[in-house]
Amino acid sequence: MTLKIRRNILSQGAPNVPGRKMKPKYITVHNTANTSRGANAEMHARYQHNGSGGRQASWHYTVDDTEIWQTLEDTQQGWHAGDGSGAGNTQSIGIEICENSDGNFDKAVKNAQRLIRKLMNKHGMSINNVVPHKHWSGKNCPRKLLGNWDEFKAGLVEEEKVISAKSDDLFKVQIGAFSKKTNADILARRAKARGFDQYIVKEGGLYKVQIGAFSQKANADEAVKKAKKAGFDVYIIGGKSVNKAKAKSSKPSPKPKPKSAPIKVGDKVTLSNSAKRYATGEIIPTRYKGKRYTVQQISGDRALLKELFSWVNVKDIGGPKKPAKPALKAGSRVTLKTSAKTYATGEAIPARIKGKRYTIQQVSKGRVLLKEIFSWVRNSDVI
Ligand SMILES: [Zn+2]
Repeated sequence: MTLKIRRNILSQGAPNVPGRKMKPKYITVHNTANTSRGANAEMHARYQHNGSGGRQASWHYTVDDTEIWQTLEDTQQGWHAGDGSGAGNTQSIGIEICENSDGNFDKAVKNAQRLIRKLMNKHGMSINNVVPHKHWSGKNCPRKLLGNWDEFKAGLVEEEKVISAKSDDLFKVQIGAFSKKTNADILARRAKARGFDQYIVKEGGLYKVQIGAFSQKANADEAVKKAKKAGFDVYIIGGKSVNKAKAKSSKPSPKPKPKSAPIKVGDKVTLSNSAKRYATGEIIPTRYKGKRYTVQQISGDRALLKELFSWVNVKDIGGPKKPAKPALKAGSRVTLKTSAKTYATGEAIPARIKGKRYTIQQVSKGRVLLKEIFSWVRNSDVI
C-alpha cells in the first residue's frame, strides 16, 4: 500500500502559524487526544484551516488509519511542542496520530511509522531524533504511545526485518551498507545466491545488509569466517563487549599503521568534509559530513560511528580533541603576531605595535578591529 499524503498547506500569514522557516532536525510525535467519531486526519487539517479554535496551534502532518494530511511544509515551523521558541517548535516536524473512536488506532500508528521512516530518510535524521511531545514540554503526549515508546521506535526500522530495540546486545554480522537500496538489494541477492540467510536493515539513512545476529560472539565469528571465505567484506556490529581486543577477529585488513590514530572507543570525532566513502565503499552523503559522532568500535584502520551506525576510515575522522582554535569574538584578548606585515586596510604595521596584547572590539569577515590601536587586522595575524 502506498502512503497517500493529502496536502492542504496553511497560509503562512494565519494567526495560528508562526510563519517562520526551519531546517527540520527532529520529528515530534503526538496523539490528538480526541476520541470523537470523525476526528480523523481530514478533520484536524480543517480544524487548523479554521484557526485552531483561536489557539496558537499548528503542525505538519495528521495521520489516521487511512490517510495522512499535511498542513505545513517540512521547512516551515509550527506550534505544537509547547516549548516556546525551543527546538521542538522551531526545528521539529510535528505529527499528530488520530484517536477517533471510529478509526483503527493500530493502523494509524503503522501509517505514522511509515511516514516517519520516509521523513527520516528524506531529511537524513537518525532514529534518536524521533521524540515524543513529552520530550520538549513534559506534556503527557502522545498519551497512548508513551507506555510503549521503545516498541513504537522499533517499528521505525525497515519493515522487511524488524529488529527490536533490544537487539543492540546482539552481534550483528554485516557485509555492506549503502545509501541506495538498489545496491543493498544487489549485495543481498549475491549473499542469498551463496546460501546466506540475508536481510536488509535500514538505519541512519543507510541500507545495511546483514547475514545474522547472534547473542554469542563465537557464533558471529563463525558466520564472519564463512562470509569471508565466500568473498564478502564482513564486519561485526553491536554486541555488548565487542569493543576491545575481540574486534580483532573481524579485522578486515590487519595492516599495521605506522602512525596509529589516537582514537579510542567513546571518543567524539568529526567526520571530515573531505571524506568521500565509507569504509565499506559507499559514497558518504554530504549531510553526514562535518558533524560529530561517537566512536563505538575500532577495527584496524576503520571506526564504527555510533550515530551513523557505519564504518568509516580512521583517516576521515578528526581526533578526539577537535575544537582547536576558539572563535575570535568581541571582547577577546589577542596578540598581534610579530610576523604581521600590514593592516587589513593595507598600510604597514609599525614594529612597536606588534607582539602586544589587544582587545577585539569588533569582528568582520576575516578581520578584527583592535580596540587599543583602533585598526583592522587580519584574523591570521592574531593569536
Ligand atoms: Zn502533543
